[in-house]
Amino acid sequence: MTEEWYCFKCKEKMVKAEIPFVYLEVEDKGKGIKCPKCGVAYFDEQTVLDVIIPTQEFIDAK
Ligand SMILES: [Zn+2]
Repeated sequence: MTEEWYCFKCKEKMVKAEIPFVYLEVEDKGKGIKCPKCGVAYFDEQTVLDVIIPTQEFIDAK
C-alpha cells in the first residue's frame, strides 16, 4: 500500500509501526500506523480483518 496518512491532530505524516494492544487480557501486536509526534496510533485495515475480527469470532464461538 502506498497510501499516506496524516495525524488528524498535528498533521504529521504517520509512520508504520507495530502497535501493541490488549484484548481480553491477552497482549498482542498488530500492524498499523503511528504519529511520531503525539504517538496516536491506528491499526491498518488488514490487521483489523486478520487479527481483531477473527479474535472476536473465536471468542463468540466459545
Ligand atoms: Zn500526532
